[in-house]
Amino acid sequence: MPRIKCSVDQCLYQEGNECKASSIQVRPTLMDHMTTVPDDTACDTFIPRHAAKK
Ligand code: SF4
Repeated sequence: MPRIKCSVDQCLYQEGNECKASSIQVRPTLMDHMTTVPDDTACDTFIPRHAAKK
């Protein structure tokens, strides 16, 4: 998998500033609107670190 830099500090898959997931899914944040800027997208693979510690 290509190296993916990610700054979502609270994600289980983040190590340093890179994503270590085997694959990721990215989706539009609002399905009904045009995606035009980076903020219009979100990582669907995100898992909060605190959720994994339970
Ligand atoms: S799964 Fe998504 S949010 Fe988590 S480190 Fe990878 S790219 Fe970032």
